[in-house]
Amino acid sequence: MSAFLEAKDLDAFYGQVQALHGLSLSMERGTITTLLGANGAGKTTTLRAICNMIRTSGTISLNGQRISGRSTERIVEMGVAHVPQGRGTFTTLSVDENLRLGAMTRTDHRGIEDDIEKMFARFPILKKRRSQQAGTLSGGEQQMLAVARALMLRPQLMLLDEPSFGLAPLVVQELFEILGQVNRDDGVSILVVEQNAQLALKIATKAYVIASGRIAMSGAAEEIAQDDEVRKSYLGY
Ligand code: ATP
Repeated sequence: MSAFLEAKDLDAFYGQVQALHGLSLSMERGTITTLLGANGAGKTTTLRAICNMIRTSGTISLNGQRISGRSTERIVEMGVAHVPQGRGTFTTLSVDENLRLGAMTRTDHRGIEDDIEKMFARFPILKKRRSQQAGTLSGGEQQMLAVARALMLRPQLMLLDEPSFGLAPLVVQELFEILGQVNRDDGVSILVVEQNAQLALKIATKAYVIASGRIAMSGAAEEIAQDDEVRKSYLGY
């Protein structure tokens, strides 16, 4: 049986620059998996490769269905939501409008209204700010909105690129608690890139360490967290 997400032998290129070299990874349905590694290792590129946002060779499948070679729009329709670094909310639109845009590929109007209320229950701060322009929200609120907007797709898999970036520790803690709930209660599988390895290893069950566009190490998150050699060589703590 194939894994939920399976990427095999990925080579990815920015023009002439090769950023991934035969990278393979897999994750099981319903889990949180984290991609760790130094700046420039290829973590963001791996998420981009999964969404076909960069020229990539190799194969990627979701639930045994090939997604590699399909358009980014099609991959989104197949249930992959990507929250890029820097969040990517529409700054001049309101919180409410951002959430509705997240549901763009859906036609079940009733379901969309229900899900907006669900997001407000999960992220109470967004309810308070529902009419406010996204660009005027704090960094933490914008990250919450980016995650909520992605969830409006009802994704099977959410790709998160450095959700903790630039946020105060308490806000990061709150955000990661919510990510844990989204995973447990809604069954959304999460592939998360993080600079904050300690934090990511706490919520993930499996971890990959990327170095120079290749998998340098992989294993159960608990084991990776306890491996002194890995910590010293790749994680810097
Ligand atoms: P960071 O945490 O700094 O974002 P990362 O692990 O996510 O690091 P990537 O952004 O995936 O790293 O970058 C992998 C490699 O690809 C790096 O060597 C980087 O310089 C290169 N790269 C990234 N974006 C581009 C681009 N637009 N054009 C050319 N090279 C790029």
